[in-house]
Amino acid sequence: MEESQTPNTETEQSFLSIVVPVFREGVQLSAFLASVRDFLCQCNLPYELVLVDDGSPDETWRVIIGEAKSCQAIRALRLSRNFGKESALCAGLEHARGEAVIVMDADGQHPPSLLPDIVRMWQNSGADIVEAVKRKRGSESLSSKLGALLFYFILNKLSGFHFKGASDFKLMNRKALDAWLRMHERNVFFRGMTVWMGFTTVQIPFEVVPRSTGQSTWSVFKRLKLALIGITLHRSIDLVCV
Ligand code: UDP
Ligand code: MG
Repeated sequence: MEESQTPNTETEQSFLSIVVPVFREGVQLSAFLASVRDFLCQCNLPYELVLVDDGSPDETWRVIIGEAKSCQAIRALRLSRNFGKESALCAGLEHARGEAVIVMDADGQHPPSLLPDIVRMWQNSGADIVEAVKRKRGSESLSSKLGALLFYFILNKLSGFHFKGASDFKLMNRKALDAWLRMHERNVFFRGMTVWMGFTTVQIPFEVVPRSTGQSTWSVFKRLKLALIGITLHRSIDLVCV
C-alpha cells in the first residue's frame, strides 16, 4: 500500500478524521472534497481527510494527489488493487488518527451537509457512535430493494439486532474505533459490526441523494458476498472488550 502524507502538526488524537473509500470517482471527487471541506469549516475542529483509493483504474489517484498538494489535511492511501469498499474502509480506519472518525462515501450519497450535525450530536450526546440512518432508501432497482429487505430480515432473526436504515455513514469515537481495530476481522461488514459492537449510539436520519455522477460499482454478486459475510460474521465473532 502506498501512502502520501503531509506532516501533521496537531498533537495525536486532537482532531477529527474523515475516512473515505474511493473507487472510480475521479470525475466528481474534487467537487465532493470541496463540499466536505466547506461543511467541516462549520465544525471548528481541526481535521484530516483520509482518502483511500481502492485500486481505481481511472484518474482517481491523480485527482487525489492533485488535491493533496493544495490541502494539507489530505492523507492519501492507495491500495495495490481493487479490494472492495469494506477493505478500503478498514485501511482508512487503521490510518485514522483523530479523536473521532467519520466514514462516508465519495459519491455524494452521504450528504456532506450532514457533517456539522453529526459532529454536534457527538459533542452534545456523549455517545460513542453517531449513526446516520437512511430515512428512505435512494432510487434503486426493485431487486436491490427486495434483496436488502430480505438480507436485513435474515440478519435481524439471526443476530437479534435491528438494522433498518443502517448505513456506513457514521462517526465513531476513539474508544469504539480502537475496539473495532482490536477485532482484527478481515471479512468485515462495517455497518453491521458497528451496531453489533454495542456501544452507546445516537441516530440521525438522512435522505440518500442520487449519486453525483456515474453509477454504483456494486454488482449483484458483490452484494451477495457482503450479505453472506454479514450473516456468518455475527456468529463467528465472540465479544468486544472495552
Ligand atoms: N467503493 C470502493 N471500492 C469498491 C466499490 C466502491 O471503495 O470496490 C467506494 C465508492 O467509491 C464509494 C463507496 O465505496 O465511495 C460506495 O460505493 P457505491 O456508491 O458504488 O455503492 P452504493 O452506494 O451503491 O452502495
Ligand atoms: Mg453510492
